Amino acid sequence: METSGLTSTGNLALVNPLQAQGVVVPTPPENLGPRVLELSSVLQVTLDIEAQIELFGKEIQRYLLIDGLGYDLPNGGPTVSYGSEAARRATYDLKLEDKSLGSVHVCRELPFSRKEITSLENLLCALVYPLRNALSYRHAVESASRDPLTGAQNRLALSNALLREVDLAKRQDLPLSMLVIDIDHFKTFNDTFGHSFGDDVLVAVAEMIANTVRRSDLLYRFGGEEFVVLASHTEEAGAMLLAERIRSNIEAMQTVRGRDIRVTVSTGVATLNDDESAEDFFSRADQALYSAKNDGRNLSRMG
Ligand code: GH3
Ligand code: MG
Ligand code: MG
Repeated sequence: METSGLTSTGNLALVNPLQAQGVVVPTPPENLGPRVLELSSVLQVTLDIEAQIELFGKEIQRYLLIDGLGYDLPNGGPTVSYGSEAARRATYDLKLEDKSLGSVHVCRELPFSRKEITSLENLLCALVYPLRNALSYRHAVESASRDPLTGAQNRLALSNALLREVDLAKRQDLPLSMLVIDIDHFKTFNDTFGHSFGDDVLVAVAEMIANTVRRSDLLYRFGGEEFVVLASHTEEAGAMLLAERIRSNIEAMQTVRGRDIRVTVSTGVATLNDDESAEDFFSRADQALYSAKNDGRNLSRMG
């Protein structure tokens, strides 16, 4: 086929400006079946989604000219991308047995020919099962580090994150603060209205904290009615401001599950010192929490 701007390269019609620039345009084989199987087994070597998408991007460039690709995880999850964005996009919603696996878009500056689209669709088949396995693995890892009641991360996740964040803050010489938040007289809610209502109070408090902190601040349920917020890039003054914002937002809650109640929290705040261990950092915030309790509750104290 030879029309203005269009050149045939083997079986594939491609717009030619790149060839004019000496770019070698890949020619997909007529039968991609064996390549799809091969590609699928290459992708199976990892359960890491970022690595899978990168591998997929690299591998499909053997058969297709692309500038980049992006993968949107299902249910509003993050986007994983490889290469660069470009003017044209071919987007596919991936599904397996009616379960959404998110969507993939492949992009480039030049238009896709019909044959290329067919090749791309064949190649995408290789991604479905490895991606399903990677998503299941990701879900299992997330469930293991999450508190099922409040959706906050759990204590195990906190100990890992604390070591990681302390290390990062020291290496990058950036401030790191921690808030240890404990619900005041929580036992009274359980004793007066029952354990299930106590659970609802926990959920409401966790939700209010999560809505108050920035996205980058990490929320953990540390114990029964205790929460920890790790606030990176945050100095003492900012951390204290955050603690007070959380305290007043919780105090302002009028009802929980339709019941008029007053919930308050006490908070211990600490900002990481040079050469302080993660353990000592946590102890200092915890000690400050005791001061807040001793000073009358519904208070924030700096350690
Ligand atoms: P303080 O102001 O000194 O913090 O008093 P408090 O009553 O909040 O503290 P205390 O440590 O005496 O009581 C905490 C209670 O939290 C005791 C425990 O039964 C309850 N608890 C722990 N985990 C859960 C849970 O998952 N759900 C419910 N409903 N209660 C819980
Ligand atoms: Mg407590
Ligand atoms: Mg308490």
